[in-house]
Amino acid sequence: MTQITEGMNEQLFDTAIREDEYRDETSGLIYCKNCRTPRQLKVEVGGEIRYPRTLCHCMQERRECENLSRRAKEFRDRIARNRSVGLADPVLWEYTFANDKGYNPKQMAMAKKFVEKWETVSKGSTGLLLWGDVGTGKTFIAGCIANGLIDKAVPVLMTNFTRLLNRLTDMYSGDRNAYIDSLNAYPLLIIDDLGIERNSEFSREQVFNIIDSRYRSQRPMIITTNLTPEYMKNQPDVAQRRIHDRVLERCVPVLVNDQNIRDRNASAHLAQMKALLQEASKE
Ligand SMILES: [Zn+2]
Repeated sequence: MTQITEGMNEQLFDTAIREDEYRDETSGLIYCKNCRTPRQLKVEVGGEIRYPRTLCHCMQERRECENLSRRAKEFRDRIARNRSVGLADPVLWEYTFANDKGYNPKQMAMAKKFVEKWETVSKGSTGLLLWGDVGTGKTFIAGCIANGLIDKAVPVLMTNFTRLLNRLTDMYSGDRNAYIDSLNAYPLLIIDDLGIERNSEFSREQVFNIIDSRYRSQRPMIITTNLTPEYMKNQPDVAQRRIHDRVLERCVPVLVNDQNIRDRNASAHLAQMKALLQEASKE
């Protein structure tokens, strides 16, 4: 300890003039040649005059700069962590507004607003129900919202019912509630594909528990589904209805109806393959 203190004192009261320094004639203090501000102070301690070292302007600026870039790095690291934890499937990392091809302009504008107005949205308990046929881009839109918020350092969990149910199946029943509650630590929970889970009693019960727990947490959720709100409302099965009622109460239905994304992707892949084969035949 003493050694460290002595070392620090030596540095603090170092009077040697370095190459980039000079002694100011008026004050007698050591100055920086570069910014012409003092690197030494004159202080009175217990009746004794001392000359401790201090940071000149440019040193302070450099330190500020280092602090800023350290904080920026910490921020980037936190976001990267949030993304890898919250979006377990790396395919989702590519679902960003920047990668939008413009197939669902109205719905995307709404998704952007959801992110922009997050401060307000997060104070309420209302989320979105993105519904529409398979291959219309619901998951993409939900992913854009997830990434948009993660970029703003908001922790988001995006998963799907199949994954959640697999996870819950492997658990002891005592751990299930704790796990389901842990999902509510996320300010936004996005669950893909309501309605494609196995129609077993266990599945229904767990899906209900997940939705009900979120419902009670008063935090927003985004659900995607191939079911129509009309079908959800009029579902004769009481257990399913309990789930749907909660979703419909808390999620604004948004129809996503671009019918052609999968077709377009498929034809793009076919075109690529065709081009590749034609190239190969030239060789
Ligand atoms: Zn300086």
